[in-house]
Amino acid sequence: MDFSATDTIAALATPTGTSALALVRVSGLACRDLAKEIFRRESPALPERRAMHGLYHGVDGRVLDDLVWTFFPGPKTSTGEDVLELTPHGNPLIVQLILADLFARGCRAAEPGEFTRRAFLAGRIELTQAEAVMDLIHARSERALAAAQRQLQGALGRHLEGLIERVLEALARIEAYIDFPDEDLPPEDRGQVVDRIADVLRGTNRLLATHRYGDLLREGLKTVLLGVPNVGKSSLLNALVGRERALVSAEPGTTRDFLEEPMQIGPHLLRLIDTAGLNSTPGEIERLGIEKSLERLAEADLVLWVVDCTQPLPELPAETAPYLRPDNTLLVLNKADLLPAPPLLGSLLPQVYVSARTGAGLEELRAAIVARADSFAPALAAEEQLAVNARHADALRRAEASLQAALDGLRAAPPSPIELVSADLRAAMDALGEIAGRIDNERMLDSLFATFCIGK
Ligand code: GDP
Repeated sequence: MDFSATDTIAALATPTGTSALALVRVSGLACRDLAKEIFRRESPALPERRAMHGLYHGVDGRVLDDLVWTFFPGPKTSTGEDVLELTPHGNPLIVQLILADLFARGCRAAEPGEFTRRAFLAGRIELTQAEAVMDLIHARSERALAAAQRQLQGALGRHLEGLIERVLEALARIEAYIDFPDEDLPPEDRGQVVDRIADVLRGTNRLLATHRYGDLLREGLKTVLLGVPNVGKSSLLNALVGRERALVSAEPGTTRDFLEEPMQIGPHLLRLIDTAGLNSTPGEIERLGIEKSLERLAEADLVLWVVDCTQPLPELPAETAPYLRPDNTLLVLNKADLLPAPPLLGSLLPQVYVSARTGAGLEELRAAIVARADSFAPALAAEEQLAVNARHADALRRAEASLQAALDGLRAAPPSPIELVSADLRAAMDALGEIAGRIDNERMLDSLFATFCIGK
């Protein structure tokens, strides 16, 4: 991607469509002059950080809108540059005219994520915070929002900073001896270095352990719905989700073999997967469906097996047995309103007795689902509750490998040369630094920011 840092960029930051107001963001060196020309400011001083009311004059002198504008002087802005924010009326036509006018005045359309990228390049935020901006915009549950907010406030960056510091301390201890090849690292120093590295390894381990939770927050709890027809799966879903279903938007452009629907349950996002193919005794034709269902089951974070409590427990294909465990499966006994008391079922799976019709037991079911999702949260204090993404996890794994190599080298008999240990520690430091963006890798930045939306 060909980004030029000197261009002044402009983009609509709000969704296209009709609304009360829209927000057009402009960032770059030309903002000051643009504001003066567009709003016909005579005096050389431009009001700063103050919402101003004015008429937007196009290059041809035509008034395009009557709007509120704010000029933010760099570098303490969202991009680190001068920023001009315009809030025209939310008519797509007005927005189009204004953007066309800004382009005619020399601005360029911003690439996806370019505002955030500039903030990163200007050192306003580090990479984990840039990613948090993305997570924040796309978060679809309260837990995901909270994790993104913590990351945006720099919690992950500070955590990594602490780890890097420890590696540096270890490095400093051994590098003092590099210049004296005849001297061995004194056992006392060796012990301290080993302790520090082991400490950092525990830290990276703890962070890596948050990856699964991070996935869960970003993608939703993979919940597979099982059950033969007519047990009340649809009724149950509607009853369970009710009003909340509308809050979750469907993901565009995804085609799947299975009906897959994101929905909120309490503070969590569920990715509900309906495996229509999984019936009791399959015929030949149903085999394929079962194969696919088994794949979904293998990936499931939670299985909701819905049964009609007035009927005997249906037999499921034998291959499903390993996937239905007490720790990941809830046996949902529906139609409780038809029986005076819960039936006695020969199953070790935890059971919830509900009625989609009357709503009885739904709170219990909801709580059980939330508890399952919460069980993935790493055992950390709420304010330290981080959730690393795939990019972080990859770098953390590389850091771990290098740290382990350093540790093995120090513990070997005879110990590895200090130069080798030092090289391993440097590699670990680089990998950790990469997470915060301390690398010069255009391609990585391109692919990362390309996933952003325009105007962000
Ligand atoms: P699905 O095929 O598993 O999705 O089942 P449906 O949700 O379509 O329900 C099948 C039938 O069972 C419908 O006639 C529902 O009205 C009925 N049903 C669903 N849940 C309950 C319940 O809790 N109690 C009673 N009495 N009937 C229910």
